[in-house]
This record gives sequence, C-alpha cells and structure tokens, in this order.
Amino acid sequence: MRLTLPTVLLGATLTSCQVPSFVSRDTPSSLASEIRVTLKPMVAGLEAPTWGQEMAPSVPEGWTGPIEDTYTHIRTSRNVVAITFDDGPHGENTPRLLDMLKARNIKATFYVVGDMIKYHPELLARMIAEGHEIGNHTVKHNSLARMSDESLLTELRACHEQIVAACGVPPKTMRPPGGAIKKSQKELMLKELGYPTILWSVDPLDWKRPGVDVVTSRIVNGAHPGGILLAHDLHKSTVDAMPATLDQLLAKGFEFVTISQLIAMDEKPPELTKTPETLTKSSKVSTDSPSSDTMTISNQAKSAP
Ligand SMILES: [Zn+2]
Repeated sequence: MRLTLPTVLLGATLTSCQVPSFVSRDTPSSLASEIRVTLKPMVAGLEAPTWGQEMAPSVPEGWTGPIEDTYTHIRTSRNVVAITFDDGPHGENTPRLLDMLKARNIKATFYVVGDMIKYHPELLARMIAEGHEIGNHTVKHNSLARMSDESLLTELRACHEQIVAACGVPPKTMRPPGGAIKKSQKELMLKELGYPTILWSVDPLDWKRPGVDVVTSRIVNGAHPGGILLAHDLHKSTVDAMPATLDQLLAKGFEFVTISQLIAMDEKPPELTKTPETLTKSSKVSTDSPSSDTMTISNQAKSAP
C-alpha cells in the first residue's frame, strides 16, 4: 500500500523546531549549566508495528530493550554525542552539510519533513549511502500535541512511507515538531509505530539565527557525554556554523554516532539493580519533582569535557 504523496506546497507555515515548554528559555548561559531531563518510565519494549508488514521497522542492532518512550540524552561515561539536523532536506544547505560531515567522517541523524522530502528525495538516498540515519519529523511540521491519536498516526505513517520510498530504509525514531508532544502520544507511537520520541539536551536556538559564532559556542559548550545536539539544516546560518562546531567538538574528543547507535549505548541507571528498599528511597526523587514527568539536573554539563 502506498499513500499519495502530499501535494500541498511548502510555504511560510513551515517553522523551525522550537524549544519545548519544559526546556529552559533562560539566558543562553543556561544551556551550558542546566539540562532538562525527562524522567523515563520503563515501558514494555519495542513491539511490532501494526501496519503494513513491508514497512515494519526492524529492531536496531544493539537495542535489547526495554526501549524507553523518550530520549533527551543517554546515560554513559563515553565521550559520545549524536548531532541531529531537523526540517530538511534543503536543496542547497543539506548537500553542503553532507559535504562537511563526509570530510570529517562524522555520522549524523536527519529528522526530515515530508513536505521537504518531495522536493529532494535524492538527498535521503545520499544520507543513507554516507552512513547517516534518517528519522521521522512528520509531513507538514504541525504540532502533534493537539492532534487526535488517529491524525497523529496518519501523519507519521505518511512521512514514514515517504522516507522508505526515497531511500528504502525505514526510520526507527521520530522527533515531534517544536518538541510538542504528550506523554500518552509518546506511548502510543512506541506501541503502534515502534518509535521512541527523540528530543535533545543541547539546543543552540539556531533557528533564531543568533550568529554563526553563537551557534558554535552554544553547541560546543553544551555538549556532554551522551548528549543529543539539536540543529537545523534548513537554515544557511546553521550550516555555516558547522565547520567550526564540528572541528571544535572533534578537538574535545567527542565521537559522533547516530541516534540509534546512541540509544544502543545507553547504560541503565544503577537504581535498577538496587534492592527494593533502595528503589523506594530513590523513587521519592521523582515524586518530589515539580512537574509530572520532568526534573532538572543542574550542572551536569559543567562536568562535561
Ligand atoms: Zn522541526
């Protein structure tokens, strides 16, 4: 089964990813000193998708589960990060970025938009050929938080089909436009589509075009082991910032992996191996959290190299 590709032209309605409500909007310096982390309730693990068998995402190598429904980072002592680029592919900026990544042998993850794929499907094939990963960022880049479950699944399945048609490789993860997503929707996507929701721990706010040097310093200063770095290949200024950004991260010893590779490296929290008594004590931390599913880990980035 193939869905008809969307015919609505991409217009001014396509906006860049914005900061989700639970991520600090404070001064840029907060990016380096504070990381918002979503507490991750464990879920049953990957289940087979319930639509067309030919589109079934395979369980990525190393994903032994349980896969969590949300990742903003992973827990690891390894000096590894995943850099992600959203809202493309863009006809000029994305090929330029791919050249930069190839020259440095850096693998990235692209969260592509269906209404962009239709103009440059060949770029998805190039991404795959050069070792990158592609994730689902919906067809129209509308906020998912207010959608019905049916509309949300329809939107994601349509983008999934576009990606498969363009490059033959099904996406394994998704990123909600603007980071806007409800807990129940995350659980639904993991159950029905096999997608964990991928957010981020480092946001340079590059879509506001703060300047090339600012984008570079925010990413480099915010990077930490296990971090997920957010950027947008839709914007020329972001791509302009990448040579210095990538070179400085390499100079700091960071290894770049794709999102699936990063998830496979997640080290489970030590609480899982503790006694029930200890679990009870440690779980109190989350119940004291000011909001239902988020907490702040301060100064984590300060200890990063
Ligand atoms: Zn986006």
